[in-house]
Amino acid sequence: MGVEIADSECEDILKKIVVLYVEDDREIHKQLSFFLRRRVKVLFSAFDGQEGLDVFKQQNPDVVVTDIRMPHMDGIQMARHIREIRHDTKIIVTTAFNDEEYFIKAIEAQIDSFMKKPIDPRQLLETISKLASACFQERELDEKNKLIGFILNSLPNFIFTTRNARLEFANFPFLKYMNCNSIEEFQRKYKSLEDILSVNTKYCDVATGAMNLINYLKEHKEDKTIVSIDTSKDNASSRSYILTYAHLPETETYVFSLHDVEHYENKIKELESTTITDELTGLYNKRYFNKTLLMHINNRQRYEYPLSLIFFDIDHFKVVNDNYGHLLGDCVLKEMAKLVSEQIRDQDVLARWGGEEFVILMPHINLDAAVTIAQRLRADIEAQNMCGIKITSSFGVVTYTNAETENDFLNRADALLYEAKRAGRNQVCF
Ligand code: GH3
Ligand code: MG
Ligand code: MG
Repeated sequence: MGVEIADSECEDILKKIVVLYVEDDREIHKQLSFFLRRRVKVLFSAFDGQEGLDVFKQQNPDVVVTDIRMPHMDGIQMARHIREIRHDTKIIVTTAFNDEEYFIKAIEAQIDSFMKKPIDPRQLLETISKLASACFQERELDEKNKLIGFILNSLPNFIFTTRNARLEFANFPFLKYMNCNSIEEFQRKYKSLEDILSVNTKYCDVATGAMNLINYLKEHKEDKTIVSIDTSKDNASSRSYILTYAHLPETETYVFSLHDVEHYENKIKELESTTITDELTGLYNKRYFNKTLLMHINNRQRYEYPLSLIFFDIDHFKVVNDNYGHLLGDCVLKEMAKLVSEQIRDQDVLARWGGEEFVILMPHINLDAAVTIAQRLRADIEAQNMCGIKITSSFGVVTYTNAETENDFLNRADALLYEAKRAGRNQVCF
C-alpha cells in the first residue's frame, strides 16, 4: 500500500508483535529465528504445517511467517486453517523458485505477502512491521465499530442507515420495534424506506411510496420532519417521530434517527399530573392550589380582578368513618369531588386541601357570586345520597382584598369555616 514507516516507528511496532515462524529447513530456520527473536516481542517456532497450526491455536500470534513445502501439512493448507480461526492474522509466505503451482491456492488462502527465498532479513522485518501496523489499525477500527454499535444499540432513538434506498443497518431498538430478529429479516420484510415511513405534514400524511423520502427531505430542509412508522397495514402505528438524518456521500449512505416525541411528551405529562393531582379524588393537590393562588395574587397587581375563595369541610366525617368504615369514607370523598367538579367553571381551581377539606379558587368571581355558589353547593350536597348516606358540609367564603398575603387570605376563609362549624354546621359563613 506504499505506507512508509520510519525506522524507529518500525522498531516500536516490532516490539509489540508476536510472530510465529514455520520452516522445515533447520539451517534457514536457525538463522532467521536468531535474527527475528531479538527484534520482535515474542517469536514462536514450528517445523511443519501441523505443528505451526497447533502453536497458532495456543499462542494466537499477530503475524505468521511460513515456508510452503513442508512435511505433514504444507504452508498454504496451514494458512487456510488459520484463516478459518482468525481473519486479521497477517500471513507471509516465503517462496522458492519452484513454488509456482501453489500460487493460486495461496491467493485463495488470502495470503497477505510473499517473499522470495533466500530471505533478506531486513526486508522481512519491514514487511512484518507494515502488516502488523495494518493489523493493529484494523483491530482498532474493529473496536471503534464495536463502540459505535454499543452506543447505537443503547440509544432509545430508532437509528438506521440506507444505501440506494435499501436498508443496511438498524439498531436493536428499531429491529425490536419492527419485530425483526436480524438485519437480514428486516431487509427481507421491508425492501425500502417507503414501505415503512410516511411523512406527517401540517395538512395530511404524505405516503412516501408516491414521493421519495430523500427528495422530500431535500425539498423541505428548513422544516422539522415528523414521520410515522407503519409496521404493517393492520397494525398501523399512529405514533409520531422527529426525523433527523445525515448524508454520507462517499458511500451514498443516509443515516436516520427517529426520536419518539409522544413517548417523552406523555412521560412528562404523566409526571406533571402526578405532582399536581390528589391520588384519591383526582382533584388538584394543595401544592398546585398554592402555586395557582400565588400566580393570581401576582397577576392582580398588574390587572385587578375579583378573586374569591371557598373553603369547605365535611361535617362529622370522623363519625362516617367510624360507622361505615374507611372505604365508604373514601367513596364519599370521591363522590364529593365529582359533585363539586360538575358545579364549577373550567377556570375555577378545585383542590383537596387535605383529609375531608376542600378549597375552590374562583378568579373573576366577586363575594356575592361566590356566596351564591357556596350556598348552592351546600344544598346540593345535603340533597344528594353519597355512597348511600347523607352528608353535609360547612363553608367559609372570602374575596381577596388588596395587598393581602396568600396566608392571610386563606386564614380568613379558614376562620369563617370554623365559624360555620361552631354555629351548628351545614351552613355558609362569609
Ligand atoms: P367536623 O365536622 O368538625 O369537621 O368533624 P370531622 O369528624 O369531619 O373532623 P375531624 O377533623 O375530627 O376528622 C376528620 C376525619 O377525616 C378523620 C380522618 O380519619 C378522616 N379522613 C381524613 N382523610 C381521609 C381519607 O382520605 N379517607 C377517609 N376515609 N377518611 C379520611
Ligand atoms: Mg370535617
Ligand atoms: Mg376536618
